[in-house]
Amino acid sequence: MGQSVLNPEELVAAPKEEAHDHESPKNTSKCLICNGSQITHFMTAPDRYHWRPEEYRLLRCSTCSHVWLANPPKPEEMGIHYSQEYHRAIMASGEESVEDRWGRQRDVVARLKKGGAILDIGCSSGAFLGMMKGGSWKLYGIDMEASTAAKAKAATGAEVFVGEALDAPFPAESFDVITGFDLLEHVYQPRPFLAKVLEWLKPGGIFYAGLPNIDSWEARALGTYWYGLELPRHISHFSPASLRHALNSLGFQEISLTTPYTTYIEDSVSYLCSRAIERIGIEPIPMSKRGPRSIPMRLVRKALQLSLAIPFTKIACAAGAGPSMEAVFRKNGSPRNKATGVLGGKA
Ligand SMILES: [Zn+2]
Repeated sequence: MGQSVLNPEELVAAPKEEAHDHESPKNTSKCLICNGSQITHFMTAPDRYHWRPEEYRLLRCSTCSHVWLANPPKPEEMGIHYSQEYHRAIMASGEESVEDRWGRQRDVVARLKKGGAILDIGCSSGAFLGMMKGGSWKLYGIDMEASTAAKAKAATGAEVFVGEALDAPFPAESFDVITGFDLLEHVYQPRPFLAKVLEWLKPGGIFYAGLPNIDSWEARALGTYWYGLELPRHISHFSPASLRHALNSLGFQEISLTTPYTTYIEDSVSYLCSRAIERIGIEPIPMSKRGPRSIPMRLVRKALQLSLAIPFTKIACAAGAGPSMEAVFRKNGSPRNKATGVLGGKA
């Protein structure tokens, strides 16, 4: 793509005049993904990251296995759940050891597309976009935070829209690749959101998403202590089945859906330790207030690595039951691309 798909004055969201699809769902009787009405109670759990007492209720669709937050905070109330500490942790995790964090994702894109326009939704400070810098890519991003978006723009030269993704004024068929890492789980209404992604892709364009897997063995074993729950910031909790349902029903074509090696065990065990401390009357320090890993947590980490937990996680990931999914789907209509097979995880 030779020229910009956005005018500079379009890079900041216009003031809102009417309600949008990303407003919080009131619907607790229909599935957000398949519209099914066989809904069951899944679990009740608090925000363990900030160690706050409010409990949140999750529902599960018996038809497609999607899980979602029954009564999420309204968008205007979400600010207190995205603390400064949370933003700092997200930015730091994206920036530390960039090759380790984003090398595989860069290689996945490179195997499917040689260049063009790439949009990273929820681009944070631009760590992934930075990996795509140079070559024949024109870079675009979307982020909610103006200061974070400015950082991404300064670091990568990308055009970054500030605001809600559904408010971004990109024309239809603008992008060869759209990525969203740790994104879909934060979206209030995933179907309209994914429909917009489909609209923005050129025919044959690629959508590449990374997100937690509610159907993983870790999520099942750790229950309300599973780090991937991230309540109430995570509104949608996809399984491979519900993610496939969402994308296939909109007309996307699957290239791969894998669970590359990762684990949330250490942070989940940290939550369990905090609960144990709380039970003997000591107030735990929330994860949001902690600095770099303490010596006790480093010992826990080592013990876990030496135990069966980490090897078992590697096997589970290879078998498609890992705690984090990566999905690569294509918009139909490509005259020049064919599916290139399964994308392997990094062990
Ligand atoms: Zn469903």
